[in-house]
Amino acid sequence: MKKRLIILYWLLLLVPTFVIGVFAFQLLRHEQERIDQEVRFSARDRARAIAETLQVTVAAVEDGLTEALCRIHGNRLTETLLEWEKSNPLLRNVFVWKPKAGLQYPVPGASTTSEERRFNARYDALFSGRVPWRSAGAETANAGPSDTLVSEQPSLVRDIKKLKTGRQRLVSLAKGEGGSYKKRNMEAEEGSCKAGGWIPWFEENRLFILGWVQRKPNGLIYGVEIELMTLLSRLVTDFPATAPKGMVYALLDGSGQILHQAGNSALESGLRPDLTVPLAPYLPHWQVAVYFVDGRLAAVSGKGFIILSGLLLSIFIIAIILGGSLLTWQAHRNMADARQKTSFVSNVSHELKTPLTSIRMYAELLSEGRIKDPGKKKHYLQVIVDESQRLTRLVNNVLDFSRLEQGRKKYHLEELELTGYLHEITELHRLRVQEAGLVLEVQIPEEKILILTDRDAIEQVVLNLIDNAIKYAADGGELLIALKVLNGKCEIRFMDRGQGVPPEHQSRIFKKFHRVDDTLTAQQPGSGLGLSIARRLLRDIDGDLLYEPRDSGGSCFVVLVPCRSDHES
Ligand code: ADP
Repeated sequence: MKKRLIILYWLLLLVPTFVIGVFAFQLLRHEQERIDQEVRFSARDRARAIAETLQVTVAAVEDGLTEALCRIHGNRLTETLLEWEKSNPLLRNVFVWKPKAGLQYPVPGASTTSEERRFNARYDALFSGRVPWRSAGAETANAGPSDTLVSEQPSLVRDIKKLKTGRQRLVSLAKGEGGSYKKRNMEAEEGSCKAGGWIPWFEENRLFILGWVQRKPNGLIYGVEIELMTLLSRLVTDFPATAPKGMVYALLDGSGQILHQAGNSALESGLRPDLTVPLAPYLPHWQVAVYFVDGRLAAVSGKGFIILSGLLLSIFIIAIILGGSLLTWQAHRNMADARQKTSFVSNVSHELKTPLTSIRMYAELLSEGRIKDPGKKKHYLQVIVDESQRLTRLVNNVLDFSRLEQGRKKYHLEELELTGYLHEITELHRLRVQEAGLVLEVQIPEEKILILTDRDAIEQVVLNLIDNAIKYAADGGELLIALKVLNGKCEIRFMDRGQGVPPEHQSRIFKKFHRVDDTLTAQQPGSGLGLSIARRLLRDIDGDLLYEPRDSGGSCFVVLVPCRSDHES
């Protein structure tokens, strides 16, 4: 194939492959982004739903407490509040505050418990009047955590929450907290409160929630501080029990600490959540967070995705390149085969031409009657016979080759006495070998060796090997044919003292058409078929043909044919 054609072929193969690869990569990436996006959206929706449920719960608890506060009636306000605080784990502290007069309970200075002292200190700004109760509601929930008030819940949100289902249940739960809550103290009608609200308050970054109501007639303000741990235990029941595989839903406080989580995976401390939904204004700075763990998103998207796509693309490109290389290799092989066949045709024609020229020349001389010497006449006739035999061998080889190639070669197995048969053939060709300048030595044991084989195949092999010795080792001066029986195989060695076969050709001389010198100007004519045919014939009858370089120079061809082991020598 021409170089330009090969380049064009590769370009035609690689350019579309590359374009398809890039498109496939882009498509995969878009698809992945879309899936990622959808996973994120659904996780965000779920987190929002959880956050809403938690907010409804907090709102309902707060509403319940407000309602209960408004129902407290009579003079025993402080005592009722204290009784309620004792019996209701939702209450952390209670207080009573009078406009102008200030805090009535816990009485500043006279407070008995350290918790009450801390309570007073915490809300000092409120109780001392520095921050008016009303303006507490004007602040926004998003103000950063500080030792100050944050907000009341906006009434709009509260109204919406009121519509949510489950509110009534939660309200009654809040009211009924602790059986000792005295119903007679709540005799007052609903409308006895003038104002009220809930104030999320931060102290040292910790959230506290204070609820207050104001009585209608005297403007007295009283209320409760919520115990957040108890509230949390309520919120936990609203949290989903499980999370989808590879995800964790968590409830985070203002400092990012995980208060509760759904999903089995352990989260490393300090791990940033992938999504967050704030719980403001009810629980400012608290968040519902979503974590994608076990590399669920990360593995498929980002690095993981790039690696996967890269791998797929590489496999695709490698497959194309391998396929292309295979095709190119096949094309080269076909070209080499075609070249070999052309050179085979020229070699065979050349080989046919030599004996034909001799036969014609001597036959013409004899037919013209110019040769009178009977000795010469006999010699010319012998040349004609020899050359026509050479032609027969050559034609036989070509015919055998075509039969073998087409799988039409038939074998006739028969019992053969090998030693006698070898003697017979070698004697038949002794003269020819000697005329080539070789001394033929035959080392064959006396005993008879019977083998089951194809007589013609053995003859063809022996003739090919003798012919080769004559062609390529005439200058070596000897041809030794030796027979031995080893391990159930008869081993016939054809040893000469010629040039031998160069190491790089030793395995290739058995391939069809292969010649060490395959030029038309080669010293010896040949078709490159003799050895390949000989090996194929032998292998077909369970034998083999091998080459071994001979010690001190020359070639040794080893013919192996199966024989009975009792002939072992
Ligand atoms: P051909 O003789 O027609 O070329 P063969 O298949 O018989 O084909 O031989 C293949 C090649 O092996 C020969 O071309 C020759 O180079 C090499 N060869 C075969 N026999 C001998 C030998 N006895 N000594 C050296 N080279 C040999």
